[in-house]
Amino acid sequence: MIPKCANPACASTFDYRYGRVFRFLKRTTDGDGPVQHFWLCEECSRSYSLEYDEQRGVAIISPGPDTPSTGNVTSAA
Ligand SMILES: [Zn+2]
Repeated sequence: MIPKCANPACASTFDYRYGRVFRFLKRTTDGDGPVQHFWLCEECSRSYSLEYDEQRGVAIISPGPDTPSTGNVTSAA
């Protein structure tokens, strides 16, 4: 069902006991399409996440420490 880690740079073969499985509904003009499954291995799921984009399909994202966490949050001191 899932051959390997969704990270193209990683060669880990699928093992449901480790890592993280993602499910995405592929949208078509007729409505919801088949569910697609993707998997990130233990190592990659620590650094990356997967996101579904209607135009580009599934993309690997890294919500690492580079992401600024400023936003509108005003924390109470
Ligand atoms: Zn991996």
